[in-house]
Amino acid sequence: MSDQSRTVLDRLDAVRASGRMPFSVEFMPPRDEAGEARLWRAVRTFERMDPAFVSMTYGAGGSTRDRTVRVTGEIAATTTLLPVAHLTAVNHSISELRGLMGAYADQDVRNVLVLRGDPPGDPLGDWVRHPEGVEHANELVELVRELGEFQVGVASFPEGHHRSPDRDTDVRYFVQKLRAGADYSITQMFFDVDDYLRLRDAVVAADPEQGAKPLIPGIMPITSLKSVVRMAELSNAKIPDAMRDELRAAAGDGPEEDRAAVRAAGIDIATRMAERLIAEGAPALHFCTLNFAKATSEVLDNLSMLPTSV
Ligand SMILES: Cc1cc2nc3c(=O)[nH]c(=O)nc-3n(C[C@H](O)[C@H](O)[C@H](O)COP(=O)(O)OP(=O)(O)OC[C@H]3O[C@@H](n4cnc5c(N)ncnc54)[C@H](O)[C@@H]3O)c2cc1C
Repeated sequence: MSDQSRTVLDRLDAVRASGRMPFSVEFMPPRDEAGEARLWRAVRTFERMDPAFVSMTYGAGGSTRDRTVRVTGEIAATTTLLPVAHLTAVNHSISELRGLMGAYADQDVRNVLVLRGDPPGDPLGDWVRHPEGVEHANELVELVRELGEFQVGVASFPEGHHRSPDRDTDVRYFVQKLRAGADYSITQMFFDVDDYLRLRDAVVAADPEQGAKPLIPGIMPITSLKSVVRMAELSNAKIPDAMRDELRAAAGDGPEEDRAAVRAAGIDIATRMAERLIAEGAPALHFCTLNFAKATSEVLDNLSMLPTSV
């Protein structure tokens, strides 16, 4: 339905040219029919809000591979949205990775976010490369670039990747990944805007040309204290003390957290983070949605970022 020769960079420019701040949203591959129905409700809701692009994560080890490729292709074919397919090297040989890229190309999906991936089961565990696969994302960027038909994004880590010995080393490898041919990056979700700004400035200082590529901040509107604490553990993100206190105060002292109050605080926090990121010149905002549209749309509404037709 939409023109899939468009790229993420084209879309960022087009949205900005229309006078709006670009945003994008991240979906997860559905596991079953019910999950797929929920995903499509979110897809259709976001379609009316005109995101610059939507991205679809890739399950560890490709467990939901066929469904992921099919659904991403259906988004390309039946909506006005521009899908970006996440691609990871976990448990895949180079020839399987080539096959996967071929499957995306066949579905007219031309934008990919290239990742190394995490060990299935324990995302913070030791990385073991497939014997005929790649060790790091920069090799996968080169591989996808060789295929010629894709615009490539990569991951970045405002707090540093959990396996990096220090932030400087992390920045060095990130810059190497950009030089390998990535056009932009999307960050890991974070809760301290200073971490994002520190990374941005470090990349510009290390290599101004690579530093000019969009570094799109990942934002997760918090809707539950319990689940954000778990998610922060899994992704190694730190929640600043003041933010944790704000959420705890909202949660209350009862045996169950006050979900409505935590949700309201979470939307407020995401709005404040976004306002500061926009003021600092972030090129777009990328929202982790968990396939729900409501929280993200409330943040966008607070920021007056929804098209007037919504
Ligand atoms: C926006 C975003 C989306 C994501 N989507 C998914 C998803 O869909 N599915 C999924 O399974 N995971 C996903 N992840 C998680 C990601 O796969 C993991 O965080 C993974 O551990 C790192 O992936 P990477 O592509 O950054 O790897 P790399 O760039 O390979 O980096 C991994 C580690 O190795 C270091 N390093 C990099 N290059 C080299 C080199 N050449 N030599 C030595 N060291 C090097 C880095 O500093 C880092 O410590 C996502 C992460 C982000 C931020």
